[in-house]
Amino acid sequence: MPSIDPRSPERLKRLFEETEAVLITAGNGFSRLEKFDPLTSPRWFRHHFRDLRARHKLHSIAHGIMFPYPARTMEWAFMGRLIALLSSRQPMSEPMKAVALMAAQRPLFVATTSADGSFRTAGIGDERLFEMAGNLHFMHCRWLCNDAVFPVEDAVRTMLAPGLAPTIAPEHIPRCPRCNAPMTSTIARDLRFMERPDWAMGYYRLLSFLRSHSSKRLLIIELGVSPWNAWLKSIAIHAADRNPLAQYLQVNDQSSYLPPRLYDRTLQLEHGIVEALSSLLGIETAE
Ligand SMILES: [Zn+2]
Repeated sequence: MPSIDPRSPERLKRLFEETEAVLITAGNGFSRLEKFDPLTSPRWFRHHFRDLRARHKLHSIAHGIMFPYPARTMEWAFMGRLIALLSSRQPMSEPMKAVALMAAQRPLFVATTSADGSFRTAGIGDERLFEMAGNLHFMHCRWLCNDAVFPVEDAVRTMLAPGLAPTIAPEHIPRCPRCNAPMTSTIARDLRFMERPDWAMGYYRLLSFLRSHSSKRLLIIELGVSPWNAWLKSIAIHAADRNPLAQYLQVNDQSSYLPPRLYDRTLQLEHGIVEALSSLLGIETAE
């Protein structure tokens, strides 16, 4: 299996110097590599959601997001608290700063299943971003009467103002300005989510990016993609297959799937994300 010593920065620096465009595929494990991953930390969940966890028998944040609450007031009590907690995430992590620097130096596109909105916060805008699982910081009409999405932060501030509770006041449920239906978070709770035009637009932007760089020296960087994240895996592998000049760098916290046909164009790291990204950019790390 190909591998590289993360302390061999010259090779990574040269790799980036020769790169004409970058495709980043980032899973939820990217946050884990960043050393901050509230969405999969049982301790963080227990600490902030003790009451809701007991009331609904929730066993994880993911369960809380997908849970079929008996009332919208309960659903928003959970989602509002989660969004408020994630909004207070500061400052930008070192790996995310490196991604932002890369975006300033090369044409770059990010496909991610992370729904915490962190790439957008780092300045990766719509035109370079496909948030495949949505973004917790937006909401849309539950009945899909229109295609608009709205920032959710103001509504969350209002619903949580009386204090943390298992339900919110019914009048604080955010409502669609067009049809008055309750709003819902813009995240992938079911496959119907993929019917949304902004999902399709993200997918087209990704395909268009890959098409326009199909004969360029493309660097595919996989960050924190779990072995069973078929969506992101297939995008990276497809991009490498379609472009014989593409190089593939995997930075995951565990051994990750790689088709044998791509061995000679792939570097695998199981740790050292800060060192790896810094080395690509030719930045010396403190360690
Ligand atoms: Zn509506």
